Amino acid sequence: MDLDHVSDDLTHVLYSQADIERRLAEVGAQIDRDYAGRELLLVGVLNGAVMVMADLSRAMRSHCEMDWMAISSYGSGTQSSGVVRILKDLNTDISGRDVLVVEDIIDTGLTLSYLMSNLQSREPASLEIMTMFRKPEALQNPIDVKYVGFDIPNEFVVGYGLDYAGRYRNLNGVGTLAPHVYS
Ligand code: 5GP
Repeated sequence: MDLDHVSDDLTHVLYSQADIERRLAEVGAQIDRDYAGRELLLVGVLNGAVMVMADLSRAMRSHCEMDWMAISSYGSGTQSSGVVRILKDLNTDISGRDVLVVEDIIDTGLTLSYLMSNLQSREPASLEIMTMFRKPEALQNPIDVKYVGFDIPNEFVVGYGLDYAGRYRNLNGVGTLAPHVYS
């Protein structure tokens, strides 16, 4: 779905499909260089990371494997609950593997902190994070994010995998949700 189709629901567009493609080409090339000669396991965090996982993995030139985790996050509101639960675990044993967690967005970082300590306890050879979007609050916590698509303002955004009450994930770009949609 094109951003134009829901322009009444957005206060503004942050990134178009072309912006995202361009940035992922750069990040993909960087990952290829950083992991040259090693085979990465990309771990996508469902559901939001579906789009970035699909596009990032195709922007890379190296072989990689993919696996998925599902953890609880916002529900249908726009504030982080801080409640994290594993809804679906990995199918892969990650011990001794080079693992790159692929995230849609980091806001407070609460969700990811939990996930990283959980994955670290499984003794991967390396464990890093790639996120498509990062909000300012994330910079105030100690999570080390190796690859960031875009740093964005502290607004509730939808599109490119990010939903509001289950909708808008299939937008090809990202925009700020208009308050009239959720108030
Ligand atoms: P954190 O634990 O970092 O505060 O929140 C991370 C999760 O909250 C993300 O994976 C995503 O599901 C959700 N989230 C955070 N900010 C936004 C946003 O602006 N829009 C949407 N749709 N979800 C968000």
